[in-house]
Amino acid sequence: MTTHVNVDPAEIRKFEELASRWWDRQGEFKPLHDINPLRLNFINTGSPLTGKRVIDIGCGGGILCESMSDCGAEVTGIDMGKAPLSVAQLHAMESDHDIDYQRITAEEMASKHAGEFDIVTCMELLEHVPDPFSVIDACEQLVKPGGSVYFSTINRNPKSFLFAIVGAEYIMKMLPRGTHEYSKFIRPSELDEWCRDAGLDVISIAGISYNPVTGMYRTSRDVDVNYMVHYIRPE
Ligand code: SAH
Repeated sequence: MTTHVNVDPAEIRKFEELASRWWDRQGEFKPLHDINPLRLNFINTGSPLTGKRVIDIGCGGGILCESMSDCGAEVTGIDMGKAPLSVAQLHAMESDHDIDYQRITAEEMASKHAGEFDIVTCMELLEHVPDPFSVIDACEQLVKPGGSVYFSTINRNPKSFLFAIVGAEYIMKMLPRGTHEYSKFIRPSELDEWCRDAGLDVISIAGISYNPVTGMYRTSRDVDVNYMVHYIRPE
């Protein structure tokens, strides 16, 4: 079911139920903890974070927000889940991070704060929203001309079905069953078309590959499963 805003309540519920375990590095969110250094490095290499105003869309419990704040960015995090946001706020307080967390959609934020951010990040969110283009368009509005937008999501093909759903949810049990829906996965070409329609130019793309033998992730050229893309809003 979808409400009039671009939010799927069933998706929000999934993350609400797990929120208390957000910062458990061995728990359901272990994959997000494991890939975070790779995402942070991709962002910080593409646009050095020190002194930048950054907004993280769909920030959850704040894993990426805190790491970007540690790199010297002034961070705002938004999410539509109440419990993930409470966890994020509490964790920031305990770990002494000054982050502005708000429960608001990307679209509403864009209507109030257009062009205010140097960098917009939107990681592992697009595959959970009813209308990904609307979020992409909001990201384009939020970033300053010349600023950067980063997305990460999951590709849609037989290999990603095998790795991201069968492997991660059923065999390795790294994620609860039902975390991801295959039909909502996004091919890089589809993401790119939406981004171009929103007025963003692609800069670089990188894959995040999982090695089931070592249990390690690394950045690679293989974008078949998890991948991240850097876009800019032209001046
Ligand atoms: N970006 C974070 C969390 C990803 S989990 C990270 O990668 O570390 C997906 C998050 O998206 C959850 O916290 C969920 O509450 C949030 N979410 C789902 N639908 C949303 C929507 N329409 N708007 C904003 N946040 C949403």
